[in-house]
Amino acid sequence: MRPGRPLDEPVLRVEGLSVTFYQRVNLWSARPIRAVNEVDLTVARGETVALVGESGSGKTTLGRATLHLAPISAGRIVFEGTDIADLDGDRLMAFRRRAQVIFQDPFSSLSPFMRVGELVEEPLVIHGPAHRAERERLVLAALEQVKLSPATEFADKYPHTLSGGQRQRVSIARAMVLEPDYLVADEPVSMIDASSRAEILYLLSELQAGRDLTFLYITHDLASARHFADRIAVMYAGRIVELAPAAQLIEDPLHPYTRALLAAVPEPDPGNRLRQRPVVGGEPPDAGNLPGGCAFAPRCPVAIAGTCERDVPPLIELDDGHQVACHLYPADSVSAGSSPTSAASASSAATRNGSSDSG
Ligand code: SF4
Repeated sequence: MRPGRPLDEPVLRVEGLSVTFYQRVNLWSARPIRAVNEVDLTVARGETVALVGESGSGKTTLGRATLHLAPISAGRIVFEGTDIADLDGDRLMAFRRRAQVIFQDPFSSLSPFMRVGELVEEPLVIHGPAHRAERERLVLAALEQVKLSPATEFADKYPHTLSGGQRQRVSIARAMVLEPDYLVADEPVSMIDASSRAEILYLLSELQAGRDLTFLYITHDLASARHFADRIAVMYAGRIVELAPAAQLIEDPLHPYTRALLAAVPEPDPGNRLRQRPVVGGEPPDAGNLPGGCAFAPRCPVAIAGTCERDVPPLIELDDGHQVACHLYPADSVSAGSSPTSAASASSAATRNGSSDSG
């Protein structure tokens, strides 16, 4: 976590947010797909929060909703004190200028028919200065900023002549050229080769340093979230099931799903028994047919018979800002100073056996 970051000045407040899509079943009916369910989240100015989870966990939909790019079914999203649902016309344009996105796939998100300079200039044509010379100056500065140097040479190239890492740098330049205050980076390194991933994440950290850029970093990769984010929110079936400072979540995961995700992270030292955690099998539930109670129950190796299938666990705050949604940590049994691990052990004693890997 970067030192000195104030966590008490939310730029972004997500309150009770739900996003439901409707999937057509036949000519007459559609079924609701609950992509995001009753999510609360705050992000402070200059903070990076990682949203982590499997495909279909709702992390991308949540990120898009914060950009006014997904329909809100319930709840609200407040950006610097303004409910973004109230924005339209010039105020919506101003918000779009300040809130930018880096897409996952630098191969499909860049038009193959436009030169790099034109691609980076495009947001300026919509939102930026009318003067062509000023736009050109900003484009070249943005390309230098993302280390595509000499910028004049790269500005003339077409995307297909660039490597995956270089294309993602073009995407970052497009997002940064408007000098946004809030950036959603949606799996920015998942489609590029391993050797470029660390460089891109380092570049994003560099761009953030020295300015109050607020980041929502969407990823399925807990290891990169650990190094890049201040806090990590783990999502499952549209809900945040655990939220904590990044190092704390990695060192002391509480939710059985977080533990399962960590078990899937390759451990360089196979002799490190402390790191060994059971891998949980099964598949995430169908968002159009979520089970009652805890959505993780069909896969959870420590589910509590009766309770977990019946009641949705609320997200409760333990000490040190660590939040978890799991019946192993009942709000009235965990107080500041008590060990969540002991609470888990005590509750685990009452769990049923043989419920794992059934999904
Ligand atoms: Fe969900 Fe229960 Fe498992 Fe906690 S113990 S993750 S509430 S099924």
